Amino acid sequence: MPVLRLAVSCPLRSLFDYLPPAGLEPQALSDLQPGVRVKVDFGRRQLQGWLIEVAGESALPPASLRAAQAVVDSAPLLSPGVLQLCLWAADYYQHPPGEVFDVAVPPGLRNAQPHQPPGQPGWRLSQRGKGLPAGALRRSPRQAEALALLQDNAELATSALRERGISAGILRQLEQKGLVERCLLAPDRTPCAAQPGLPLNGEQAAALEGILAHYGAFHCSLLEGITGSGKTEVYLQLIAHCLARGQQALVLIPEIGLTPQTLARFTERFGSGIAVLHSGLNDTERYAAWEAARTGAASIVIGTRSAIFSSLPRPGLIIVDEEHDASFKQQDGFRYSARDLAVKRGQLEGATVVLGSATPALETLHNALQGRYGHYRLTQRAGQGELPALRAIDVRREALQGGLSRALREAILNALGSGQQVLLFLNRRGYAPALQCHDCGWIAQCSACDARMTVHRRQRRLRCHHCSANLRLPQACPSCHSERLLTNGLGTEQTEEVLRSSFADWPIYRVDSDSMQGKGAMQALVSEVQHGAPCILLGTQMLTKGHHFPGVNLVAVIDADALLFSANFRGEERMAQLLTQVAGRAGRAGDAGQVLVQTHYPDHPLMQAMLTERYADQARRLLLARAEQGMPPHGRLILLRTDSPATDTGERFLAALRQQADPALPQGCRLIGPLPSPLQRRAGKFRNQLLAMAPDVRQAQRLARLLVHCAEQLPSRQGLNWSIDVDPLDLG
Ligand code: ADP
Ligand code: ZN
Ligand code: ZN
Repeated sequence: MPVLRLAVSCPLRSLFDYLPPAGLEPQALSDLQPGVRVKVDFGRRQLQGWLIEVAGESALPPASLRAAQAVVDSAPLLSPGVLQLCLWAADYYQHPPGEVFDVAVPPGLRNAQPHQPPGQPGWRLSQRGKGLPAGALRRSPRQAEALALLQDNAELATSALRERGISAGILRQLEQKGLVERCLLAPDRTPCAAQPGLPLNGEQAAALEGILAHYGAFHCSLLEGITGSGKTEVYLQLIAHCLARGQQALVLIPEIGLTPQTLARFTERFGSGIAVLHSGLNDTERYAAWEAARTGAASIVIGTRSAIFSSLPRPGLIIVDEEHDASFKQQDGFRYSARDLAVKRGQLEGATVVLGSATPALETLHNALQGRYGHYRLTQRAGQGELPALRAIDVRREALQGGLSRALREAILNALGSGQQVLLFLNRRGYAPALQCHDCGWIAQCSACDARMTVHRRQRRLRCHHCSANLRLPQACPSCHSERLLTNGLGTEQTEEVLRSSFADWPIYRVDSDSMQGKGAMQALVSEVQHGAPCILLGTQMLTKGHHFPGVNLVAVIDADALLFSANFRGEERMAQLLTQVAGRAGRAGDAGQVLVQTHYPDHPLMQAMLTERYADQARRLLLARAEQGMPPHGRLILLRTDSPATDTGERFLAALRQQADPALPQGCRLIGPLPSPLQRRAGKFRNQLLAMAPDVRQAQRLARLLVHCAEQLPSRQGLNWSIDVDPLDLG
């Protein structure tokens, strides 16, 4: 007896068999295509399931199977490629398949809701209408006119008919006579009229040619180009090629809200026909963009992480811009890497994949150096402008004001005085990261986390940056009632205050997640700054993401030491990427500009490397170190995390898990832990982890399956949550 094998939208890691819904004709059953949704009873609830296959039989006795309620869709909502991608991802990341599939559709389609096929409402002749001779219905001229129009055009949109004077009433009269019927006009493929590209320089042309040489079959390339070297221009010309072949291009970028310019450049070059998918959309907008991609109406799809799951009928090219960016990895729930899935998807669909960055992730660089990816380098700035050198400012024994040394204050004044813009980087928002009592030493701690509260002076609040805790800023020490409260350390709000008093004649823009609330905030700021009048931009990491501020000539890193001591194995890689990205904001037009780095450790080997080596050289050196440590990309990591309101539940769970897994470990694999997570208590939960290391991806896959299998065998414990993270970014 045939059964429907379904990925049901629930947090369980298996597929479920159901009998076909009662009354489904055998023909209809054999016509069912994978990817249609089915409504099923699941426990006491009704859920949606994704049809994976119609299987000949079930491993379960037929009597134990329930019949599905109904088939929801007449045709699959997902393209075959995305269906395969979801199945692969569910297995690779060991995540419940139903939840993976749900990521591939807008929220409105995750609960067995009917899918409204897209299209404009319109009219066409019915069978009977087609039988009428030309010139029929002479006695009602309006109806005759409508009929004639539909005899000349197979289908017409209701709106087009209205423009020609045919009202809805007339059409209804014809409908009543059975001569016309309603239909949906398939959405038009919005034409992309590509503007001609810029003449490419030698390096750009070599990259374009090299990538196009493999076009038409799966191939992945790394485009490693310094900031401003013209990577985007190469993408644009690749896309033009893809469109000329009638195919669709998918472009992943880290954050759309923060990079309105990227979008503007695409629209400028290609006009309409671009669907944009990102987290800032409301449900209707998201649905429309998803549908435009899926039907093929949009030829270019630009989106953030989850856009990797958009169905495309004619995929040809997948571009991941700033591929090193951490935002491509989902950090909770379904912990996938959109960058890695882009490569997999290219493989599944025979598409060309391009990963671009000024500071490629070591994983990507490794693949390129091993010859698995094509590798193209852009070493010169494309327009005018040179890449500035970094210079350290030794701040030891300096009198700092708002974190700024005298040398830096002078440099700022000089730059502003000669009409230039200044960008200051400080990766800590708020006024100060700690509040302390001068009399008794009390420090404001979050009551739910192992962390200090950050002072937000303007809002007069203490906020925890690890949970939602926030309190009124105390007037006095809660421990000894002294009013002598001190702030320790530095945040953007404090530096802003100092800047406002020292550089009162110039506008100062603070750019962090506190000041940039709301949809258009960043866009407004960017266009204001692009006018080029001298000003100071002060911001966190938000400022380093792909913006073009052609007037910025001085860039300074206020506290490089904060980057220097990281517990994460990716710490050095991150620091090198961040400094290179920050530095890349300087001197984009005209002369080279300068980049100043304030530090207490000018002689630290890492700092020396940052100052004297280009990213490309640092990255190659870091790769060697990773090889010695057996760390990614030379080995693979898997992290099992637990959280629980009780102190030792997680540790006991992981210890039991380890005991079960140890005897069965695949060759070359090992387990480390259980250990407390770096910030052990967060939002009231105690967190522990078990780190698993594997020598290569194949063993890592075996290991992931083993760990999940063991975890699922363990008796569940009150309040305990566990999760698996394959290829984690952070060990925390
Ligand atoms: P990236 O994406 O590598 O940061 P962009 O593509 O944004 O670099 O290019 C930086 C600047 O150089 C842009 O203003 C762009 O218009 C210009 N540019 C890019 N390629 C060329 C070219 N071949 N000729 C002239 N200008 C170019
Ligand atoms: Zn006190
Ligand atoms: Zn907290």
